[in-house]
Amino acid sequence: MTDRNTISDLFIIGGGINGCGIARDAAGRGLSVTLAEQGDLGGATSSASTKLFHGGLRYLEYFEFRLVREALQERETLLRAMPHISWPMRFVLPWQAGMRFDAQTPAARLLGRVMPWARGRRPAWMIRLGLFLYDHLGGRKILPGTATLDLSRAPEGAPLADGFARGFEYSDCWVDDARLVVLNARDAQARGARILPRTRVISARRAGDLWQVETEDSETGPRETHMARALVNAAGPWAGTVLQDRLGVQTPDRVRLVRGSHIVTRRLFDHDKAYILQGPDGRVVFALPYENDFTLIGTTDAEQADPDQPPRCSLAERRYLLEFVNRYLRQPVSDDDVVWSFAGLRPLYDDGAASASAATRDYVLRLDADGAPLLSVFGGKITTYRRLAQSALARLAPHFPGAGGDWTAGVPLPGGDFPVDGQAALAADLYTRYPFLSAAWADRLVRTYGTEAADLLGRARSAADLGRDFGATLTEAELRWLMRREYARTADDVLWRRTKLGLRLSRSQAMALDAWMTAQGAGAPVQHVAGQVAI
Ligand SMILES: Cc1cc2nc3c(=O)[nH]c(=O)nc-3n(C[C@H](O)[C@H](O)[C@H](O)COP(=O)(O)OP(=O)(O)OC[C@H]3O[C@@H](n4cnc5c(N)ncnc54)[C@H](O)[C@@H]3O)c2cc1C
Repeated sequence: MTDRNTISDLFIIGGGINGCGIARDAAGRGLSVTLAEQGDLGGATSSASTKLFHGGLRYLEYFEFRLVREALQERETLLRAMPHISWPMRFVLPWQAGMRFDAQTPAARLLGRVMPWARGRRPAWMIRLGLFLYDHLGGRKILPGTATLDLSRAPEGAPLADGFARGFEYSDCWVDDARLVVLNARDAQARGARILPRTRVISARRAGDLWQVETEDSETGPRETHMARALVNAAGPWAGTVLQDRLGVQTPDRVRLVRGSHIVTRRLFDHDKAYILQGPDGRVVFALPYENDFTLIGTTDAEQADPDQPPRCSLAERRYLLEFVNRYLRQPVSDDDVVWSFAGLRPLYDDGAASASAATRDYVLRLDADGAPLLSVFGGKITTYRRLAQSALARLAPHFPGAGGDWTAGVPLPGGDFPVDGQAALAADLYTRYPFLSAAWADRLVRTYGTEAADLLGRARSAADLGRDFGATLTEAELRWLMRREYARTADDVLWRRTKLGLRLSRSQAMALDAWMTAQGAGAPVQHVAGQVAI
């Protein structure tokens, strides 16, 4: 339906973390917002990250102090706003005196010049210096600082091969990236934003003082025209093609697409800390505890030019990741241990760096105010999405003098209104109020929905009151919640983004789920099944 009478203040292209973060921030300032996402919210890069709120220890070697400081400062602000989907995590960095690296980072080159005998190494003092900066650059109140570990005795040394006697430990945070996106979208909507998933922007043109935006329903095709005072291009990997092909705008700014792949294996270690592993190529790979029974290993850096080609973890990337971790593990992992893999495209700002690893991870905002304003977002991290949104609105502020000021710091996302260390207490309370839940089920619901878990369960007195069980505690009540409140339409939305129950459901269970959702007027063919993913 065409509605030319309604004019939004902002029209946002892209429902990844940056688009949804900007929508939430803008709506909370009193601006009217429409957001169009061509697929599922968070369906592109923002559900394929390593899922860390982190400063980025390795960026220190590139002297990216601004980015690292901002990201470090952000960690605790974000933790406070979403203690259900984000929590502190300790990272163990195993170290050996003889380790050699092919590192072309500015820090490594500087070291090689002033101390030629240390070329190709990361001496212990250099790591300690990096961790000292990491501890102090951004300030910490919740997260504990760096520690040194005797890996020959500490439990964190047990899964590691002989020779890793020494290690360093520091703090960062885990976050469920896909849920972060959808909770921002929900909060934006609660503050008045219009969120349109599965709606593609096919063109936008300046019309007088306004933008005229044409969209089409990505599934069924009907078109709609929208008018807006300003346009935000938050199309991530498509930011360049949206400018060129959809808006007809020429710009020297370029996006550099760098694919990052992850593999998920059965659980490889018995503690809740993560490993940050250094490779001879100078890169680092993480091995993270994942969804209780699994380990998440990633990532890679592979150039990929075309944003329309769905990113996949290639055989070579899978082999690279297995070989990488096997340099460290006592019990080697093999292909047979891999249950799932996924990949995403980093939409980096193209700063002309020689390698994909060296390209800046900082974000760049470009405002074209030659007529109705157009703001384009290049790059960025999950970690800096809130600050990026704040900066975006600061750039647009002269065009909206009546808009409110910054407000998002520490304001809870839906379900996040409880203390940072309150997850276990909330799960215990849920378990008491709903005695038919298992402890693991209560824990999963709290880590997914926080204080809203009780709203989802409502007046249920038994598991049967929650309707059909589709497997792994996924009930009809939860599905209805996801479809009504969280924009879920397909089995993939539910199994791989709103939850990660795709790791636990069998193919036939996933098919039954899809059939049920289709019968409700939603649904689409299941694309992924754990253990059977095409690589
Ligand atoms: C492998 C990997 C690991 C990472 N790990 C981390 C990490 O641990 N921590 C961290 O902080 N950051 C991490 N990042 C970076 C972070 O994931 C990204 O910077 C962030 O998700 C980008 O979000 P975005 O909203 O810009 O892009 P996206 O999430 O890709 O969103 C853009 C959206 O725009 C939509 N769109 C495009 N064209 C149109 C159109 N014409 N109409 C409507 N919609 C359109 C797309 O469908 C897409 O959903 C990682 C990235 C990768 C790839």
